[in-house]
Amino acid sequence: MRFPSIDIWEIEQLLSPSRCIICNRYASELCLPCSPTPSPMRVRLPRAKQPLLSSLIYDDHVAKIVLAAKEDNSRLAQFYLAKQISALVAHATHHIDVSSLLFISVPSTSRAITARGYVHMDRITRFLTSPLPIVRGAGVTLQSDKRVRDQSKVHSLQRSANVQGGFSVRRGSMTEIAPDVGIILLDDVVTTGSSMRESIRALNTVGIEPDALISACISPRLASNRMVPS
Ligand SMILES: [Zn+2]
Repeated sequence: MRFPSIDIWEIEQLLSPSRCIICNRYASELCLPCSPTPSPMRVRLPRAKQPLLSSLIYDDHVAKIVLAAKEDNSRLAQFYLAKQISALVAHATHHIDVSSLLFISVPSTSRAITARGYVHMDRITRFLTSPLPIVRGAGVTLQSDKRVRDQSKVHSLQRSANVQGGFSVRRGSMTEIAPDVGIILLDDVVTTGSSMRESIRALNTVGIEPDALISACISPRLASNRMVPS
């Protein structure tokens, strides 16, 4: 049975109003002074065909929100990141001619999943909204096959080598995808793009090409690859 987490969350919200993820003042998700200003952008992802859509630059402040979502399992932080991604999904659907959407997430390492007790991106995707119907439950799941070293402690060249050949489509997760289904590859943070490129490579091996790449946050360096708005 699926745990009806959102309904219980709504009840919790009525019983105890939420507090700002960062400063703990009463506010929905984030209080105004703590709210980063989302700025939707399309950036060139080196060695990828598709541009990457994102809206937040991953600075120390945004990192606190991501950390709360990822490591503290903060539903408010997860909801906040999902809101950013949902806005980007709405933007992406203007550029692709499809009738429904399938979301595929860049996988976490099995070590991270075991340590957290949950799949971080699943927590975010359950809050996603979309102007088109979302294909849920059935679809394609990516998995991380080898022990990838802690990404935060290696520099970018090592990082690329680190994830190479590391992801695959989980056996049994692959179902027939209708041609009118738009495929969106999602992540919460893209730093160098190596995990996203590795996800594309793994999907390509089973004949899937994502229609759009979306990440809630990107590194300042990737943000400098910003493309002219279209
Ligand atoms: Zn605050």
